[in-house]
Amino acid sequence: MILKGNFIWAPALDQLEVREHAWLVTEGEKIIGLYDQLPPEYAGQSVTDWGEAIIIPGFNDMHIHAPQFPNRGIGYDVRLLEWLETYTFPLEARYRDIEFAEQVWKRFLNRLWATGTLRFSAFATIHKDAAWRLMELTEQAGLRGLVGKVNMDRNAPDNLREETEQSLADTEELICRSREELKHVGLILTPRFVPSTTAKLMDGLGQLGEKYDVPVQSHLSENPSEVQWVKELHPDIPTYTQVYEAFGLLRQDKTIMAHGIYLSDGEKEILREKGVLLAHCPFSNSNVSSGVMPLRRDLEEGLRCCVASDVAGGHTAAMNRSVAAAAALSKLNWLNHPEERHLKVTESFHLATRASGAFFGQVGCFEPGFDFDALVVMPDRLDDLLERTPVERLEQFLYDGDDRHIAARYCGGALVEQPFTL
Ligand SMILES: [Zn+2]
Repeated sequence: MILKGNFIWAPALDQLEVREHAWLVTEGEKIIGLYDQLPPEYAGQSVTDWGEAIIIPGFNDMHIHAPQFPNRGIGYDVRLLEWLETYTFPLEARYRDIEFAEQVWKRFLNRLWATGTLRFSAFATIHKDAAWRLMELTEQAGLRGLVGKVNMDRNAPDNLREETEQSLADTEELICRSREELKHVGLILTPRFVPSTTAKLMDGLGQLGEKYDVPVQSHLSENPSEVQWVKELHPDIPTYTQVYEAFGLLRQDKTIMAHGIYLSDGEKEILREKGVLLAHCPFSNSNVSSGVMPLRRDLEEGLRCCVASDVAGGHTAAMNRSVAAAAALSKLNWLNHPEERHLKVTESFHLATRASGAFFGQVGCFEPGFDFDALVVMPDRLDDLLERTPVERLEQFLYDGDDRHIAARYCGGALVEQPFTL
């Protein structure tokens, strides 16, 4: 495949690459090269010319709750723990019904596709069948990623509380089945968070992680009441982070922890050593009044961080908007902490493309050997009276763009059409 256009990507936090009117050549899933002049050996082959469009890497959303998709924007006048009980758990209980689950999954995947999220790591619910259906539909959609059957055997409503052994058996079954039947979607171990998983369940999940070498995702230090609750549940373990560590759930370079707002220096040391990816979710942090993650400081201290939507704590799956919000929240944090710099929107863009893509391997750059994941973003017709550079057009898309600006999506080297008609 040969594409022509204006390519922009952010290989590092402080680095933005721009190649205008360039030719990109792919073979299978991979990028072969990006050229200012088309090499002679490709002469005569068909070229897709995207004209003045900018072409950027697809977004990777490393923290999103698929079953909460219908709750976007609802009930944010209470804080986390009350919000979970009032809004989240009653909805999640409905996914026992596989028909309902399928209807939501299709809408969810259509929306991710529309807004340019091509890879993700999602929470499903405790229900094995619903989680499996989400995995199958994701693969069918031509998108890629990880899906977690949620594990929850304490501090949950009766209809969402599992038997420990059954929770482990269902999880193991999905690990094996996805490895046999799917190519681009895998299982990620998903204890909801420490308060809802017993020591026995966390220990069992840690052992499954070792046995099958699968990744882990969960929540960490999102809200002060939650942090206090974890202390009460595990008085013998000094910190929240060390609870996960004690049960083998901080798997080296294979763990995503959402939020991490209230971390001690000792916890950060552990997270850095284990290569844990912290998913910063700016909309969720503000919607349910959790706090402001000191993102710039964390990055300077060498923590791995990315930007994620956390639907439905976040009210939108559109990652461009989370990218802009991460920069905005960082500026508010900077006003209170002038000694820290704020994050630029192009740095936030790196966190939602390359920094997150690294969890899947060579994803998020337009360089030889990388998987070709891309969004073709058309110029904004409301703003066509002035000349804009490609970088200015990127910035404007991140702040005020939407799915109508995205003319095409490529994932793993293939054009992906809208997955489902409803
Ligand atoms: Zn979450």
